[in-house]
Amino acid sequence: MHIHEIFSRHKTTFSFEFMPPKSDSEAEALTQTVQKLEALKPTFVSVTYGAGGSTRQRTHDLVVRLKHETTCDPVPHLTCVCHSAAEIEAILTRYAQQGISNLMALGGDIPRSRPGYDRSEDAYRYGSELVKAIVEFNQRGIHPHPLGFGIGVAGYPDGHPATPNKLKEMDYLKAKVDEGAHYIVTQLFFDNRSFYDFRDRCELAGIHVPIIAGIMPVLSEQSMISMANMALGVRYPAGFIKAIRRCGGDEPFERRVGIQWATEQCRDLLDNHVAGIHFYTFNRSKATSEIYANLGVKDSLGLTEPTLTR
Ligand SMILES: Cc1cc2nc3c(=O)[nH]c(=O)nc-3n(C[C@H](O)[C@H](O)[C@H](O)COP(=O)(O)OP(=O)(O)OC[C@H]3O[C@@H](n4cnc5c(N)ncnc54)[C@H](O)[C@@H]3O)c2cc1C
Repeated sequence: MHIHEIFSRHKTTFSFEFMPPKSDSEAEALTQTVQKLEALKPTFVSVTYGAGGSTRQRTHDLVVRLKHETTCDPVPHLTCVCHSAAEIEAILTRYAQQGISNLMALGGDIPRSRPGYDRSEDAYRYGSELVKAIVEFNQRGIHPHPLGFGIGVAGYPDGHPATPNKLKEMDYLKAKVDEGAHYIVTQLFFDNRSFYDFRDRCELAGIHVPIIAGIMPVLSEQSMISMANMALGVRYPAGFIKAIRRCGGDEPFERRVGIQWATEQCRDLLDNHVAGIHFYTFNRSKATSEIYANLGVKDSLGLTEPTLTR
């Protein structure tokens, strides 16, 4: 379903992010995860796009499988890095033929396997240029939907490390929306004040598309450390660090604290009219399912609102 239709039908979207599996055993585990999370009726699911050759084909394969073998509405991610215009065109054509409705258009990072890669070889440097290319593709009427692909882009409540100038960063985000992006999904964040401030800064910058909040349950001190390394710029509030440290290295306790923190983030976001919540699942279902249960979310069509009787 085109993202415009999704937002017109859903007060709040609930979506999950998957990564393409790298082996048969990972594929089996992901199948089970998808089965469990499908039962929560997500509004859509997204599939990340890897930096290197073979993982890119795996994104396509997983997207097609989700589209045709499950009830999930898959949104593939696509990055500019290491791609010619002809390759991007071929990918868009394939997704259009498969009836894929929406895409996440991303700049991407130079893969670790290709140090020193010269980005001047890429057809598109920034996310905004990829958005423009997708809009041009849409205008050519190849996609079966009259509006073509719905287009999502990334936003960073705690900032993106490549742009320390925070005013310029908002200009660059606005450029993506001005080129035709329909919605924003944020990088994960752990302090809702960052998100609300980001939302206000978008408003001031004249960015009026829906902003979906990226939530990742951090389930141990170790994963807190590795995530800080992966999602550069992300800030952990002192209260969260203190809560994790109080567990004294006891992993089941750390897990409980992480689930509690993410639940409270989501509850507060819902109370503050967030357009959607996007769960970074890391291909696991348990934490997301627990948060759903804590929140009383029945499915993505709405929240359970039981009538209280005396
Ligand atoms: C929701 C989400 C999903 C993601 N999924 C993936 C994925 O599947 N695969 C993957 O490889 N990566 C993924 N990423 C990571 C992302 O690719 C990196 O963070 C990347 O460094 C930036 O991507 P972008 O789309 O934000 O790029 P851009 O919007 O191009 O921005 C990149 C940097 O360049 C700056 N910039 C933008 N325009 C200009 C300009 N005109 N002049 C100068 N500077 C400019 C921006 O401020 C920013 O610092 C994801 C990130 C998010 C938040």
